[in-house]
Amino acid sequence: MSKTSSGLFSGTLGEQADLEEDYYTRYLNDGGSVLDVRVLPGSSGMRIPRRLTPEQMMFLTDKYEVEFAQVYELGPGRNGGGGQYYIYSGTRRSVTVPISSTTILISHTHPGGSAFPSRKDMQLMALLARVGSPQRVSTIVPRGKKVVKFSSKG
Ligand SMILES: [Zn+2]
Repeated sequence: MSKTSSGLFSGTLGEQADLEEDYYTRYLNDGGSVLDVRVLPGSSGMRIPRRLTPEQMMFLTDKYEVEFAQVYELGPGRNGGGGQYYIYSGTRRSVTVPISSTTILISHTHPGGSAFPSRKDMQLMALLARVGSPQRVSTIVPRGKKVVKFSSKG
């Protein structure tokens, strides 16, 4: 609302956009469900309503053929409770996530199927520790293989 030169108020009319999130739930034939996105979150990230399972992370990776990462931003509660989950997408070989004292890297995917942490993966864990994040172990979700744990040491 603003005041016009004649001293009257003016306002703007508009049609309400659909209350749409950037993600939605997709139901599968086997009765399970996955979270899908309307736009790739990229390195700015997308807030999501719940933690994704490794299978749900791999669904996104298979569909979009890029690495995805899932991050938990610690909340104000005890042990970081009440925080928020975010996903990030990158390229076929990398994904960029935020680094802060309140960041927990839950998992990231390897579309190429490597079950080993890359040098950059380990460097990122060291960086998280250096800035004060309590996290020491994260997980890799490799395509076609079991989830793997890793730390800054390998
Ligand atoms: Zn990796």
